[in-house]
This record gives sequence, structure tokens and C-alpha cells, in this order.
Amino acid sequence: MDKTFRAVWVEEVAPGKFDQRIVQRSVDELPDYPLQLAVSHSSLNYKDALSAFGNRAITRHYPHTPGIDGVGTVVEDRSGTFQPGDALLITGYDLGMNTPGGLAERIAAPAEWALPLPQGLTAREAMILGTAGLTAGLCVEKLLEAGASPGDGEVLVTGATGGVGSIAVALLARLGFRVAAVTGKLESADFLTALGAWKVLDRETLAPFANKAMAKPLWAWAVDTVGGDTLFNVIKSLAYGGGVAACGMAAGAQFQANVFPFILRGVSLLGVDSVELPLERKAEVWQKLAGDWYIGEHLDRIAEDIALEQVPEFLARLHRGQGIGRYVVDME
Ligand code: NDP
Repeated sequence: MDKTFRAVWVEEVAPGKFDQRIVQRSVDELPDYPLQLAVSHSSLNYKDALSAFGNRAITRHYPHTPGIDGVGTVVEDRSGTFQPGDALLITGYDLGMNTPGGLAERIAAPAEWALPLPQGLTAREAMILGTAGLTAGLCVEKLLEAGASPGDGEVLVTGATGGVGSIAVALLARLGFRVAAVTGKLESADFLTALGAWKVLDRETLAPFANKAMAKPLWAWAVDTVGGDTLFNVIKSLAYGGGVAACGMAAGAQFQANVFPFILRGVSLLGVDSVELPLERKAEVWQKLAGDWYIGEHLDRIAEDIALEQVPEFLARLHRGQGIGRYVVDME
């Protein structure tokens, strides 16, 4: 058995300065978890960029291998849950945070973090979706549970060219919603229209709302991947009885707010977590993504395939908010 594998390696080379490169590691250096996977595909998420640039709220100790997503085949499973050769999927929990992550040809993890690769998805498709797809699915599920239906009016999606955003646009459009996609990259409007966006709006459209206690009711529902004051600008502009599924913080973790949209329009702030979600719930959403919610023809449009060697360059792009769609790391 090959004892070495390639991995992304993030090191603090000077106080506060982090370097990312590819190194050769030994399987003996992996944590002592029962399940070992030979990773065929991984993907890049915003959280990986935060980890790669030294965000201690994500990763406490360096050097470190990020990567919150991974698909691969079982090399060994001492827990007895899976058989060698089984194709498995891991997203979230501690993978890539303080456990060496999926941006490597080999990972070790507790068997309780892993799901069989959902039927109907290839390994590559599962990683085009990855945590971003799971999160977009959870956001859509939250809106549907709150009563959203296509006849209600427009659904706003912020950070629309990003991983979660682009999948949310495609998924909502597939379910018949009229999607207003908000982006800082108007030059990518064609990309968003091809995914099914009804209209594409400049990020600045929301900025004037910041000076008002309330804004005109414009959207029935929303998916916010951006956080910060954008989130409250979205809340202020929701129509009566609407709601926003909030999952992100690309623009910041804090926001200024008032109670008026909640007490005058009855709007709801719906929090979404894809990381610590119980495995059975993850499995249910993956089933939908592979079945009724399959966004087939859009997956290739959203994906860019990259090699492990390109990961540092693309993590930097994501860190600057300049990513478009999803980056799939092909390690086959
Ligand atoms: P990406 O980097 O792929 O997308 C983020 C997008 O947000 C960017 O492409 C950009 O889109 C927009 N954006 C970036 N910076 C700013 C800014 N300063 N102001 C406004 N918009 C900005 O990230 P992901 O799709 O992987 O993740 C999106 C967010 O969701 C992240 O904050 C991430 O941490 C969070 N997340 C949360 C999860 C959960 O379980 N709650 C799981 C997965 C992700 P555009 O140019 O189109 O506006």
C-alpha cells in the first residue's frame, strides 16, 4: 500500500502570515480515526479560504490541511461500518477545521461523519454540490417549510455568483421560483441568467436601504449567503409574512438591526447550518439533491475542475470574494 499522499499544507511562516503549498505526507501522520478514504474529489468552500488564511475561529492550530468536503473510496474502516472500496461522501463536522481535511489524497475520519455516495450522483457531481449544495438545499428547504411557493413573488439570492449562491439560484429556478440574483460581479450576469435567474441586480441596489428603518417590500423570500449589514437590508425589504434563510458571512458576521420588519411585517429570520446537522438530515437533503432537486444540466455550468496544485491560487481568489460557482478538485 502506498504510504505517502499529496496534501495542501497551510503554515504560519511569520506572525499572521500564512503560506499554502502542496506537500507529500505519510498516512502514519493522519489522525487515529477508524475510517480512511482515498479521496478522488474535493471542492473549495469559503470556509476553506478562511482556514487557509489563518482564521483561528475555523482552525486553531497550524500547520494544517483544509478541506471541509471529500469524496473517495474506503481504504480501511476499523469500525466495521463500511467495506473497502465503498464510495463515501463527507461534508462538514470537524473535517478541514481542526481535523486534516479533504484537500488531500487521503483522509481519516470517524465513520459517523460519512454517508454512502448518494445514488444518482457521480463523485464529481457530489463535489460540484459539496457543502455549498447541501447548504443551498437546506436554505430552500427552510423557505418551503415556512410556506414559500412560486406564486408569492420574487426570491432574492445574495452572493449569487458564489458557490452556495449559484446553486441556490439554479435550485430555486428549477422549483419554479422567480429569482432576483444579487451580485458584485455584474459582468457575470449571463452566468446567472443561464442558471435561471429572472433578473440580475447589482449589489449596490441594496445599499441605500441601510439609511432607512424599513424599505419598500420587494421580495417574498430570500436566501442570504453574505451576512453583515446586507442581511438586514434584505430583511427590511421583505414583503409581509416573508422570510430569509441566512447561512453566510462573506461580508461580515455582525449587523445593525431594528425590530420593525419583524413586528410590522411579521418576517422571519431562518438560520441554516450544514456543518453539525445530524447525518440522517444530511442524507435526506442529499437524496433530494440527487433526485427531485437534481440540477443536472447546470452542474457543468457551475463547476470548474482544478488540480490539487492549483488549490492555493483558487483559495486566494475565494478569499477575495472573486470566486464564481464551484471549484472541484480532481485527484484521480
Ligand atoms: P463563495 O466564496 O463561493 O461565495 C461568496 C460570494 O459572496 C462571493 O462570490 C460574492 O458573490 C459574495 N461576496 C463576497 N464578499 C462579499 C462582500 N464583502 N459583500 C457582499 N458580497 C460578498 O462562498 P461559499 O458559497 O462557499 O459560501 C458563502 C457563505 O456561506 C460564506 O460566508 C460561508 O461561510 C457560508 N456558508 C455557511 C454554511 C452553513 O452551514 N451555514 C455552509 C457553507 C457556506 P457576488 O460577487 O456574486 O456578490
